[in-house]
Amino acid sequence: MILVLTGGVGGAKLANGLAHTFRPEELTIVVNTGDDFMHLGYFICPDLDSTLYKLAGINDLERGWGIRQETWNFMNTLKEVGGDDWFKLGDKDLATHIDRTKRLSEGQTLSEVTQALCRKHNVSHSIVPMTDHRVGTIVDTVEGDFFFQDYFVRLRCKPTFTGVHYKGIKTATPSPKFRKTLTYPDLRSIVICPSNPFVSIDPILNVPGVRDLITSTKVPVVAVSPIIAGEAIKGPAAKMMREIGLPSSPVGIVEHYGKLIDGIIIDERDTSLRDTITATGLKVKVCQTLMQSDNDEKTLAIKTIKFADTLSY
Ligand code: GDP
Ligand code: CA
Repeated sequence: MILVLTGGVGGAKLANGLAHTFRPEELTIVVNTGDDFMHLGYFICPDLDSTLYKLAGINDLERGWGIRQETWNFMNTLKEVGGDDWFKLGDKDLATHIDRTKRLSEGQTLSEVTQALCRKHNVSHSIVPMTDHRVGTIVDTVEGDFFFQDYFVRLRCKPTFTGVHYKGIKTATPSPKFRKTLTYPDLRSIVICPSNPFVSIDPILNVPGVRDLITSTKVPVVAVSPIIAGEAIKGPAAKMMREIGLPSSPVGIVEHYGKLIDGIIIDERDTSLRDTITATGLKVKVCQTLMQSDNDEKTLAIKTIKFADTLSY
């Protein structure tokens, strides 16, 4: 059994590679829910949806988010009647939010709803939320604190980042499948996908009990760097690192995750950093980590698990 921790679009590429390499019963994909929010009366889970659409093979490649061959009748009409259009919801995507919100209002847990959505999209691998409780990532900046979507979409990540905190996290617990996987006797490794460390991975790690459970598993924990040659492929990860005084490089990722990880995979373009990281006592693998095709995703997935296996103790 392999446990995968991921955010949305970036992490889902590696999760997809792993899903094409391992059977459903060999993989649990745990997704950040700190970005989740209510919008227009619907409960939106951006990272769960990005992961679901990716594994279902219906994700839009050009736009980089949402469903392919999307239409925008609802959004355009909403705009015409003076509705809120800062967060784009395509017609197809809307069906997910409506179905999810209905199921939640009937009393299903987010885990149950996500499982149902996976089944409808013929995804047989387990995509599970980090928690069934409501947790909201709040981004702290020099201009004040903002809910994640506000900072990300409305403010376009402009205010200088100083940190994050999570509303509702104190009373949250890991989702049942997440906890079960963390305590699984045959757990082989834990993979931290190349997702934003602050707003995608940290919310998962900060669910009470998760860090301790990860440490007590004694299985290899491997991270894939989301930073290549000083920059993020997409999104604010590198900017955030610089603004809080971390090097925007795999070295900063290593500093950030600290003792939680046993190894890191860095890109070929960062080969010069290998010795610096090795000197900290961490194991390093250098390979191509940019995923631009299904084949790139699968190749990196196989290399990640092979690397993790070499770290077994
Ligand atoms: P989001 O929640 O949709 O923003 O997605 P994530 O947090 O999962 O992913 C965003 C991160 O993925 C960014 O920091 C990117 O640098 C990183 N990323 C995206 N594509 C790739 C890739 O092909 N390789 C690597 N190594 N990182 C990637
Ligand atoms: Ca996200």
